Amino acid sequence: MKLGNKVKLLAVVCAADVILLGGLCRTVLGNRPVHAAAGNGAWVQEGGETMERAKGLEGKCVALTFDDGPHKECTAQLLDGLKERGVRATFFLMGQNIEGNEELVKRMHDDGHLIGNHSFSHVQLTKAGARSVCQAVDRTSMMIEDITGERPQYMRPPFGDWNEELECDVGMTTVLWSVDSLDWKLRNKNKIVKRVLKDVEDGDIILMHDIFPTSVQAALELVDTLTRQGYTFVTVDELLID
Ligand SMILES: [Zn+2]
Repeated sequence: MKLGNKVKLLAVVCAADVILLGGLCRTVLGNRPVHAAAGNGAWVQEGGETMERAKGLEGKCVALTFDDGPHKECTAQLLDGLKERGVRATFFLMGQNIEGNEELVKRMHDDGHLIGNHSFSHVQLTKAGARSVCQAVDRTSMMIEDITGERPQYMRPPFGDWNEELECDVGMTTVLWSVDSLDWKLRNKNKIVKRVLKDVEDGDIILMHDIFPTSVQAALELVDTLTRQGYTFVTVDELLID
C-alpha cells in the first residue's frame, strides 16, 4: 500500500452535484481529500462515506487525460495513434491553442474523445479573480462549442489550482488527476512510462500533456502495455457518475 506518496486528486464537484467516483480512486470531493483505507478496495472519504465504483464498468479501467493542447504536430500524432488502437481519451484544451487547430478539435470530437476546458491561457486561476476566470473559461468553452456543437462540462484548472468560490461561478465539474506522469519534466519516453506504470491502479486518472513528442510516444506505449495488463481506457465522464 503506497499511502501518503500518492495522494489522489480526482474531482472537485459543484456543490449542487453529488458525484460518485469510480473504482479504487482516492479522491477529492468538494475540495476535501479522500484517503485510502488499508486493505483492498475500500476507499473512504474523510467524512467516512464509502466511494462506489461507477456502475457498468467491468474490469480494470483507467483514463488518459491530456492538458495544454491542442498542438499541431503532437496532438495530430496522438490522435492517429489512439485511433489505430481504438482508444478514447480526455483532452483539456487551452483556448489560446485552439485558434488555427480547429480541425484537430473537430477530429477529437469525431473520434469520440471527451473535450474539456483548461482555461484560455495558463494562468493560476485562484490568483486571477473570479470574474476574469469566468471570462477565460467561458471564452474557451465557446470556442470549443463553436467547433464541436457541444459545450464542455468538465474543466481542469491550470496547475490544479482551484477553490470552491470559483467552482460555483464557473459551474463546471472540475477534474484533477490521480497519477501525475511528470511528462513535462521528464521529457523521456521510457522514464514517463516507468513512472506511470509504477503507480497506476484501477480507476486512475493519468495526467499527461499532448504538447511534447515524448509524451505522445509514452502515452501510446502505455496504451499498449496497460491493454496487455487488462485495462480498458475510458474518458473521465465514464469514471464519474451522477
Ligand atoms: Zn496545464
